[in-house]
Amino acid sequence: MPEKILVVEDEISLQETLAYSLKKEGYSVEAVDNGRSALETARKMKPDLIVLDIMLPEMDGFEVARILRKEMTTAILMLTARDDEIDRVVGLEVGADDYLTKPFSMRELIARVKAQLRRTRLLREELGQNTEAAAHEVLAFDNLTINLTRREVTLNEAPLQLKPKEYELLLFLAEHRRQMLSREFILERVWGWGYIGDSRTVDVHVRWLRQKIEATPSEPKRIVTVRGGGYRFEG
Ligand code: CA
Repeated sequence: MPEKILVVEDEISLQETLAYSLKKEGYSVEAVDNGRSALETARKMKPDLIVLDIMLPEMDGFEVARILRKEMTTAILMLTARDDEIDRVVGLEVGADDYLTKPFSMRELIARVKAQLRRTRLLREELGQNTEAAAHEVLAFDNLTINLTRREVTLNEAPLQLKPKEYELLLFLAEHRRQMLSREFILERVWGWGYIGDSRTVDVHVRWLRQKIEATPSEPKRIVTVRGGGYRFEG
């Protein structure tokens, strides 16, 4: 079965170009031109990836991402009109997986789409292979638990409010406990960006996570920094 992609773009000529290029790559594509239809279509089709414009009629791309993130783990590739730091930060907070700044080439878009879908496949495979997690559906580290079914993290039995990428990062670290993970590897596996991404994104998310799960965030014991450029989860 071909992987399914939902294109959300109100600029019709761009929407048509996107749909055409993605279909040519063998994907099954649906396209809509506003935020409300994006939600309805995503719920029905359960796409593997959503290409999501930010400036949309009815409901903007941030709001669409914020709502869908609570319902599904579909990869989200956001399209921004300009190289705007604010858009990038807000996008990360609502759970976008990657960005493209307009104008972009279709070649660049296809490369990013492939990277995201590859990441999604790897995550699914790993989750399937992780028998311990699959059997219990909960990973527990002392007073910290990760419930994989409910995508919920608790500390001292109180649920933590984690942003979508904070959750994915924590889960990835926890599944590779005591392994040194380089920023680049984390970036590729949690964001799907590879070397084209910005590894500071990893540092920012680690800082946010530490504030939530470490007893003393300035002296982390759970997510430790490894000299030479990476992190290790101690439990
Ligand atoms: Ca637009």
